[in-house]
Amino acid sequence: MRTSLLLISATLALLTGCDQGMDLDAPGAVNAEKLEQAASNDQDWLSYGRTYDEQRHSPLAKINQSNVKDLGLAWFADMDTARGQEATPIVIDGKIYITTAWSKVKAYDGVTGKLLWEYDPKVPGETAADACCDVVNRGLAAWGDRLYFGTLDGRLVALDRATGKVIWSKLTIPVGEPYTITGAPRIIDGKVIIGNGGAEMGVRGYITAYDAEDGEELWRFYTVPDQPGKNTAKHLKAAEASWKGEWWKLGGGGTVWDAMAYDPELDLLYIGVGNGSPWNQSYRSPGGGDNLYLSSIVALRPSTGEYVWHYQTTPGETWDFTATQHIILADLAIDGKQRKVLMQAPKNGFFYVLDRATGELLSANNYVATNWATGIDMKTGRPIENPDARIDQTGKPFVVTPGPGGGHNWQPMAYNPDAGLVYIPVQEASFPYFPEADWKSATIGFNTGMDFAAGAMPADANIRKASLASTKGALIAWDPVAQKERWRVKFRGPWNGGILSTAGGLVFQGNSASRFAAYNVVSGEMLWDTPTQTGIMAAPVTYSVNGEQYVAVLAGWGGSWAISPGIFSEVGGPVRNISRLLVYKLGGKAKLPPEPPLALLPIDPPVDNGTPRQLAEGGRLFGRFCGVCHGDAAYGSNLVPDLRRSGLLHDPDSWKAVVIGGMLKDKGMVSFKEAISEEQADAIRHYIIRRAHEDKALGDK
Ligand code: CA
Repeated sequence: MRTSLLLISATLALLTGCDQGMDLDAPGAVNAEKLEQAASNDQDWLSYGRTYDEQRHSPLAKINQSNVKDLGLAWFADMDTARGQEATPIVIDGKIYITTAWSKVKAYDGVTGKLLWEYDPKVPGETAADACCDVVNRGLAAWGDRLYFGTLDGRLVALDRATGKVIWSKLTIPVGEPYTITGAPRIIDGKVIIGNGGAEMGVRGYITAYDAEDGEELWRFYTVPDQPGKNTAKHLKAAEASWKGEWWKLGGGGTVWDAMAYDPELDLLYIGVGNGSPWNQSYRSPGGGDNLYLSSIVALRPSTGEYVWHYQTTPGETWDFTATQHIILADLAIDGKQRKVLMQAPKNGFFYVLDRATGELLSANNYVATNWATGIDMKTGRPIENPDARIDQTGKPFVVTPGPGGGHNWQPMAYNPDAGLVYIPVQEASFPYFPEADWKSATIGFNTGMDFAAGAMPADANIRKASLASTKGALIAWDPVAQKERWRVKFRGPWNGGILSTAGGLVFQGNSASRFAAYNVVSGEMLWDTPTQTGIMAAPVTYSVNGEQYVAVLAGWGGSWAISPGIFSEVGGPVRNISRLLVYKLGGKAKLPPEPPLALLPIDPPVDNGTPRQLAEGGRLFGRFCGVCHGDAAYGSNLVPDLRRSGLLHDPDSWKAVVIGGMLKDKGMVSFKEAISEEQADAIRHYIIRRAHEDKALGDK
């Protein structure tokens, strides 16, 4: 019976001339066996987190504590985008593959830096308006002789690894809805798994598995229930009672925009689920409830997408506390017993260790200061909340620590199994959450139910100084068994790079001070450091070709922190974006060209003659629609135009042509005419003129 079926299908294939698919045993093909054994493969970096457990630890030790001082630039490649670079390269047989801002893909020779091919999916510029956090992309996945990646406008694309030619492309999102893809796909047994973002805009989260061969959709897993009566999946029916009101009309949120990990032995896929949409729970689910599966770690069966278990880090999420942050799997000795654990340091400030077979909480402790919760109750697994932080229930503002940037964001951690330490790029920053009164959902821009205008930084030198002093970043080494910090490297500002750990006893990290450095894994002592001309957010990788070890990092400042938090975007001084792939080796002698001068227009506003009504209305609308890209209180960065410096402030007609007419939509500045009138657009102009005068008086140039 088996034989005859095989014969029939072979005959059909011949008759129809369809191809037999990828040869997974061909030399160089990436297959299940190679991905499962990636830990011992020191030459390649086969997937986003290097191995299915996402430890980002390489067994390479040619570069080590005694010779890292001789590390030098081997080669570099300039990018053709000047926005945030968040990608982890993947490396196969001495070739490096990266994604860049605007979802472009590039392939290089790992030794010479020669560009082998490039692919531009031509994401429409106006897609930028749907992205919460810059036009970034975090990377690719490999299977067979192909590469897979997501585009900002929601496509999953399969490319030929040798040529960069498109094999198939599939739209993974409903047309017209503000979903975006920035995360890297993962591939398990020929299934390409991809999520998306958009919970700031008003969407319902899900991940989908596609057949690597032809892009056929195999299953979709929603993280938030549809309206009662419409849910068929068991986990969604079970979640209905944790929601109130008519959440399905608002999307509910729960996007899966970054972390995944896989345990082949347990055959479980772990996903990190994002924040609620809108943030303010009193609008999303009036009357409260846990709102499953927001801010949760969920275990699924990767063959079917079936729910297995979940652990919710922040029940009734209302602070943008995503649990999409990096998930690492490891085996740890806890209380004398070997445990298979899952570790995460989500935005909410607590480091969680779970049993990854069952989801049981083993331990939790705060890895940064927190004031929204004093700890985690080990009996219930729930946070012990500070009632004042429940702004959705009090209706009153509260300065919450950490803020929506999180104690840790998407920047990858790393785990060194020899040292038994997890390295976390952390940040210390609070945020004034002002619940918005009478919030209404808009069809464009952020839909959070928070009043960003009310919480904007006042033009007051003392408040600025105090706020800046309390906003910091650090690299910390965390002992996950003891749940304690072991060492700390302090940075002037937050938003530093992802981490690489190596068997050479080194952790590598780029930072917001435009340096790339290596530290002793055990002591944190800095052993090497080099200037990079640009802030680094992405995580480095290491690989080897012909016995030579290389360390590569995609440099280029950007992301949400670089564009939205106003004065805080430059706590450590002005940070440039000079996007480049930087590759280092022992004795490398290449040199970067001289840093070009930073040319900023002066702050030179026209006469400040806005009426009190225009200034109030303009400030409110700026906070709602503009600040997310152009900076809190119009204090802009040097990545997206700083409107205080804009020549358009002098020219009301041109201003209108951009804000209402959509003249710059190809650059990402879409028309806002569906949300604001011409008069309101001009009120925003008057508000920015006022802000420019205020900041000039404070000494800004
Ligand atoms: Ca979010």
